[in-house]
Amino acid sequence: MNYQDFVKQESMYICSTYSRYPIALERGFACKVWDCTGKQYLDLLAGIAIAPLGHCNTEVRARLNEQANKLWNISNLFYQQEQLNLAKRLVESTNAQHSKVFFCNSGAEANEAAIKLARRYWQVYKQRESYEIISLSSCFHGRTLGTLAATGRENLSQGFTPLPDGFKQVPVNDLNALKEAITSKTAAVMLEVIQGEGGVLPLPFDYLKGVEALCKEKEILLICDEVQCGLCRSGQFWAWQLAGIKPDITSVAKGLANGLPMGAILATAEVANGFAPGSHATTFGGGCLVASVADKVIEIMQRDNLATRAEQIGNYFKGKLQNLAKKYAIIADVRGHGLMLGLELAKNGKEIWTDLLNNGFICGFSQNKVLRFLPPLIIEQAEIDSFVENLEQILQKY
Ligand SMILES: *Cc1c(COP(=O)(O)O)cnc(C)c1O
Repeated sequence: MNYQDFVKQESMYICSTYSRYPIALERGFACKVWDCTGKQYLDLLAGIAIAPLGHCNTEVRARLNEQANKLWNISNLFYQQEQLNLAKRLVESTNAQHSKVFFCNSGAEANEAAIKLARRYWQVYKQRESYEIISLSSCFHGRTLGTLAATGRENLSQGFTPLPDGFKQVPVNDLNALKEAITSKTAAVMLEVIQGEGGVLPLPFDYLKGVEALCKEKEILLICDEVQCGLCRSGQFWAWQLAGIKPDITSVAKGLANGLPMGAILATAEVANGFAPGSHATTFGGGCLVASVADKVIEIMQRDNLATRAEQIGNYFKGKLQNLAKKYAIIADVRGHGLMLGLELAKNGKEIWTDLLNNGFICGFSQNKVLRFLPPLIIEQAEIDSFVENLEQILQKY
């Protein structure tokens, strides 16, 4: 089917909630994807960070096929080896910061679970009437009613009110504002170490350390939403390791099963006491098919030291973009860590983004001026070179 037919048929059969990029993709391998006309692209977005090991990774595909012949999902009524294997691996990845895992199916669900755990930890386990979640401006935590309330953007919640109570937002990078917002009702502060949807905004490490200290002092929990910045992308396995902070709860999803839907939260042994049998559940969460695949994904990340790779090749990429920024005034900023990078343009960049797409390069585009790069962590230096050369040719025109 060609692209025009897609547009026409979709408008007939699919709810119009997405503004899609103007191509229809049909096949992928490693960092390359092909559209319905057979045209090849370098994928610097990777399904918004969901394919850290590249598309159709051979080893992951072998694991998927193996488990597909054994068992897919039998609900959480039964013990499952695959879920346990993955939980152990995730816990070990935190260097003893976290002890227990709850599995779910998406980023929003993971953050929803984090919010529920924080509230129940205080209200039931600690017998303290705290429920309020404080988040930061320009954050993004998901599209369920609870996570929309945490996200706090009116354009996203328009028409969906009333949202649940008990959420407050403070300006990012302002410790005093946070200090003033905390009351005895506060249960947790929730943040992204590198804000993703907000336009790739890394939070300063001294600010993050300040938030951590404030949470300790005021006895409230710290939740790190690592749905986008986690799993080696930042240059550390967890982005909070970059800043040297220690959250009570970490949420994860996107890249966890390299493209299959999966999410999880990790919690300290103490905070995990907030959950008890029957207190929270999901039918699909941690099913053996996705758990087995995710177990392989984490195994490969650790075996191949992809955090270090993301740091090294990310620095190389960032350096090249910074060189362009010195030459072309239209580049206003280059920022990010590891392979989570953003390039902000001084004016509307839709034409530049479109030229890149036409030339066979897929990157993200937000706020009409930020090019976002979340490529597979296996991206090669030569692929980055080809992209940067192409971008430079386009910039010369503007
Ligand atoms: C994508 C994202 C979410 C939401 O994840 P879904 O799987 O789309 O529900 C939450 N938090 C962050 C930081 C994200 O990037």
